[in-house]
Amino acid sequence: MLNAKPASLSIVNVGYRSTNFWVLSAGTSRLLVDLGWVGQFGALEAELKRKDIPLNEITHGFATHFHGDHAGVAQDLKNQGMRLIVTPEQVPQIAAMKQWMKPADNYTEINLDDNVIVPVAESRAFLKGLGFDAQFVHTPGHSDDSVSLLLDSGDVFTGDLTHPQFITDEEAEITMRSWRTLRELGATMVYAGHGPVRPIAAP
Ligand SMILES: [Zn+2]
Repeated sequence: MLNAKPASLSIVNVGYRSTNFWVLSAGTSRLLVDLGWVGQFGALEAELKRKDIPLNEITHGFATHFHGDHAGVAQDLKNQGMRLIVTPEQVPQIAAMKQWMKPADNYTEINLDDNVIVPVAESRAFLKGLGFDAQFVHTPGHSDDSVSLLLDSGDVFTGDLTHPQFITDEEAEITMRSWRTLRELGATMVYAGHGPVRPIAAP
């Protein structure tokens, strides 16, 4: 049974450079979903300021997957006091991410030993503790470490999970399975990493 979005929950887009980053606020908790472009912490700071969200109120952050345009300034945010939530599926990809970075990217390497590891199966209880009725759902397709955040309201943050219209043959099966899982769990509105918010595609 799905609930309407509680009045206390707000979703604000603080994205830049065609990528969406979302601040979810519930009471005094603020969760940042997707963590900026690599080397561009200043741009994220500026967007937060523009939207009147104090950086030091971002208590927790989560990346839908560890690519440079979704988790690029995770460590910079951690250095400002944000706790980084990761699922076990994502841990190997965090270490792998630095291989793709060039010196000119100004990537701040993510520390591996001080993150909050939350298994998908335990995510509902963990997120409830932060004030969010939600869960993490492992949604591979675009990458093995892709994890979506699904709110009980039906809003789902999917990162780069490929839109069904643009799926290529080699990823078709696994990506379609991820979309099916999200639909079965009650997802209705898709907050993708790029582009506007849209209803989930019909099966
Ligand atoms: Zn990606």
